[in-house]
Amino acid sequence: MIEDITLRVSPDISADEDKLAQVLVNTVGTRQLNDWRIVRRSVDARGKAVVVNVTLRIATDSDKVVPSDYKETEFKPVAENAPQVIIVGAGPAGLFAALKAIQIGLRPIVLERGKDVDSRRLDLVKISREQKLDENSNYCFGEGGAGAYSDGKLYTRSKKRGDNKEVLQLLVQHGASHDILIEAHPHIGSDKLPKVIKNIRATIEKNGGKVYFNTRMMKLLIESGTVIGAETSDGQRFLGPVILATGHSARDVYRQLYNDNIRLEAKGFAMGVRLEHPQEEVDRMQYHCKGQRPTALPPAEYRFVTQIDGRGVYSFCMCPGGVVVPSASGVNESVVNGMSASARAGRWANSGMVVEIRPDDFPEYSLNGDPFELLRLQEDYERRFYEAADSSLKAPAQRMTDFISGRLSDSLERSSYAPGLISKRVDELLPPFIALRLKEGFKNFAKQRKGFMSENATVIGLESRTSSPVRIPRDPVTLEHTDVKGLYPAGEGAGYAGGIVSAALDGIRCVESISSRLRESDNLSQSGETKE
Ligand SMILES: Cc1cc2nc3c(=O)[nH]c(=O)nc-3n(C[C@H](O)[C@H](O)[C@H](O)COP(=O)(O)OP(=O)(O)OC[C@H]3O[C@@H](n4cnc5c(N)ncnc54)[C@H](O)[C@@H]3O)c2cc1C
Repeated sequence: MIEDITLRVSPDISADEDKLAQVLVNTVGTRQLNDWRIVRRSVDARGKAVVVNVTLRIATDSDKVVPSDYKETEFKPVAENAPQVIIVGAGPAGLFAALKAIQIGLRPIVLERGKDVDSRRLDLVKISREQKLDENSNYCFGEGGAGAYSDGKLYTRSKKRGDNKEVLQLLVQHGASHDILIEAHPHIGSDKLPKVIKNIRATIEKNGGKVYFNTRMMKLLIESGTVIGAETSDGQRFLGPVILATGHSARDVYRQLYNDNIRLEAKGFAMGVRLEHPQEEVDRMQYHCKGQRPTALPPAEYRFVTQIDGRGVYSFCMCPGGVVVPSASGVNESVVNGMSASARAGRWANSGMVVEIRPDDFPEYSLNGDPFELLRLQEDYERRFYEAADSSLKAPAQRMTDFISGRLSDSLERSSYAPGLISKRVDELLPPFIALRLKEGFKNFAKQRKGFMSENATVIGLESRTSSPVRIPRDPVTLEHTDVKGLYPAGEGAGYAGGIVSAALDGIRCVESISSRLRESDNLSQSGETKE
C-alpha cells in the first residue's frame, strides 16, 4: 500500500534521515515498511517550539517501492518546416514559452535585448562597484530576465495559472536541486540560477530553437490588424505570431505599443521600501531562540500583511540571508530589490515593505488620459530618490525607528547594499499616501511580532518594481490581445503574472494557445481542401 504520512518532528530530527526513519518505523508500527521518501517539508514556527512538518510517502506490505513522481520531459528537434513563434524576452515567461514550443513542435525564435547570463554578471558587478549602468544589461534585462539574479523563490500564491509542478520539474531537469520539489518554500539562489538558465538555452538551441542576444525588438510588424512578426534593433525581421514577454521594466515597449494604437490599461501595483534587519534578529523573532538559531533550521523569514486606510500594506519578496541590490534598468533611477544565494548565509535579511496602489489613487499623474498614470508616478519617484542620493546609485535610507518618528538618522547600520546608503528622510521622499500607511503598517507588524521593531533595522528606498503599473489586455481564453490578432502578451510585463513561476506558467499557456490556434487553422484549411 502507498500512503502519505505527515510527521511533526523537531528540526534536528527532520535534518537527520536516520532519526527520521526511526520515528517513521515507530509510527508505522507492525506494518512492514518497504520504502519511503520525503514529498513535502515545511517549518512551522507558530508555536513556542519550532517544529518541522515532514510528509513522507511510504510503501508498506505488498507494495515494494514508492514510485517517483519526478518526470523528465523528452525534447526532440522540431521539424524542418515547423511553424515559428517569435518570443520577445528571455525571462522566465519567454524561456518556458520556448521550451513548451519545442515540446509541441513549434520553432521558438527568442529575441533578447540584453546579454547572455554570464556576460551580464560582469555588468552587475559594474553597477555595484563603478555605479555604471548598461540600459540593456542589468538586474532586469538580459538572459533569464529579472528572474536570473534574483532570490529564485519559486512559490506562487495563485494556482489559477496552472500546475507549478511542470515548471519546477523542468527547473530540476535543467540543473536545480530536487529539493525544490519538496520544500514548501523552495528557492534556487542567484549563484545557481545562471547554470539552470544556460541549460535551458542549450535545450532550446539543440532542438531547433534560436536565441538572439543584444537584439532588441523595436517594433511589431502589423498587417490588417494582425501582428505578423517583429523588427529588431539591427533591422532584422522575424515572422510569426509574437509572444511579448518583455517584463515590467520595458517602459519603451509600452510606449511603442501605445504609439501603434495598441490598447493598454493602467494597472494597480505596490510601492514602498526594502527593510533590512540583521538575520539574527529575524531568527530570534521567528524561532523564539535566545542566541543563534538551531543549525538544522534555515535562516528565518517573515510574512506580514495588514490593511491601513483601505489599502494593503505587506511584506514582499523576502530574502533571508540575502542582499539588497540596485535593480534599476535605466540611468537616473533609484530602485532596490533583494536577492540571495542558495545558502542564504548572509548577515542580513531583507524584504520589500510595500503599499498597494490603485489607478486613480494619484490623479495628479493622470495627465494625458493615457494608461501611464502609475508608470509616471513610478518613474517620478525613482528619479526623486536618485536625485536625493546626490544623483548616484547610493540608496536613501533611514533607521526604521526614525522613519516612524519622522527624524533624520544620525547614523546608519551597516548594510548589504553594495553601492552604499545615504541618510535621508525616506519618510519625506515617499508620497505621503505611502509613507503614512507604511508607518502604521510597521507599528501593526511590531504588535504582531516581538522583535520586529528594531533600532538595527534600516528602511532603504525605493522599492518600486513590484509588478507592472500597466496591463496589456488580452482575451482570457485565447490569451491574444483583445484587439490585435497574433499578439500574445505574456508574463509580468503583460500584467498577468508576478514572480518566476507564474510568469513561466503564463509563457507556457501562451504557446499552448498559439498551438491550438494553428491546429484550428490547419483543420480549417484541410477541410477547405476536402470541400474543393
Ligand atoms: C532582484 C530581483 C529579485 C527577484 N526575486 C524573485 C524571487 O525570488 N522569486 C520570484 O518569483 N520573483 C522574483 N523576482 C521577480 C521575477 O524575477 C519576475 O517576476 C520575473 O522575472 C518576470 O518574468 P518575465 O519573463 O515576465 O519578465 P522578465 O523576467 O522581466 O523578463 C523580460 C525580458 O525581456 C527582455 N526585453 C525587454 N524588452 C525587450 C525588447 N524590446 N526586446 C527584446 N527583449 C526585451 C528583458 O531584457 C528581459 O530579459 C525578482 C526580481 C528582481 C529584479
